[in-house]
Amino acid sequence: MTHRRTSSPIRVGDVMVGGNAPITVQSMTKTDTRDVEATVAQIDRLARAGCDIVRSAVPDMEAAYALAAIRKRITLPLIADIHFDHRLALASIDAGVDGLRLNPGNIRRRDHLNKVIVRAKERQIPIRVGVNGGSMPADYRPGEPEPARMVALALEQIEMLEDMDFGLIKVSLKSSDVQTTIEANRLISDRIPYPLHLGVTEAGPPSIAGIRNAVGIGILLHMGIGDTIRVSVSGDPLLEVDNGREILMSLGLAQTGPQLISCPTCGRTTLDVPGIATRLSEYLRGIRLPLRIAVMGCVVNGPGECRSADVGIAGGDGKVLMYRGGAFLRSIPVEQAFEALTQEIDSLVAASSTQEV
Ligand code: SF4
Repeated sequence: MTHRRTSSPIRVGDVMVGGNAPITVQSMTKTDTRDVEATVAQIDRLARAGCDIVRSAVPDMEAAYALAAIRKRITLPLIADIHFDHRLALASIDAGVDGLRLNPGNIRRRDHLNKVIVRAKERQIPIRVGVNGGSMPADYRPGEPEPARMVALALEQIEMLEDMDFGLIKVSLKSSDVQTTIEANRLISDRIPYPLHLGVTEAGPPSIAGIRNAVGIGILLHMGIGDTIRVSVSGDPLLEVDNGREILMSLGLAQTGPQLISCPTCGRTTLDVPGIATRLSEYLRGIRLPLRIAVMGCVVNGPGECRSADVGIAGGDGKVLMYRGGAFLRSIPVEQAFEALTQEIDSLVAASSTQEV
């Protein structure tokens, strides 16, 4: 992997973004922000799944006021997503949010923008300047390639903040097109010192969004570009966190977490590998221990993978072979495979928390 680009770190609540800080995973709530109970419940689920920073839309004043109640009840740093109306930004800052996502060009009057910047500076909260390919004005630099247009617009917006002596900036350049996202971020990466928030936007339903984001975010991170990521999915935000963490772990950039290995199955399979793997990925949410767990359908590749796993099962002749710590442990009936596996995982997690104490 290429050496990581140097960026000036900023603080979002108690989470550092940029510099040498670990790359963080973000998501966005999909509840009505005015519904405090539902939004807090969703943020709690996201936190348990490993989300580092959460963002909520602020479409009106009622939503801005709700942020105060939400902020008091959650552990994650909260970012207010604002468009057009500076009063929503001011009310969100007063509600105690840890950051704003706001496009300076979206707020028409300079004095209104200035009020927001002054208040953000007082509270020392960062602002993410985001350019989305889909919301670029059609008449902005027509004829130029899309990535160059996105970069030019982002630089203009950044300059507006810099002119007001504001430097707690994070930047995102997102497109629904993977290659445009990669190129835009590559172009801007050595032109600004600020941390970069990566993501392929409007990426589609889970299976498609996961691939587009893995390719777009993965290539950029592999180039050393990017400080925080959000996988946008048309679906449960937990999937955004799962995908984000998996991208980081695949590149060796995540701090901790289980790694699930399961075979694709074939005509030799003697075990419900897809069913067990799906249940297991759900079960593993919230576990931060760096476990390697294998679910394999038969003895062709099963014992080999299980021997390099902390816990593993492989389909055998009418039963399931269970491995722990790389060694064969015992045979179990097929119908008890999932429960036996989770018991072993639980005991490893319990042993590690005992050691931590
Ligand atoms: S481990 Fe066995 S069941 Fe799974 S894909 Fe390989 S050969 Fe097929």
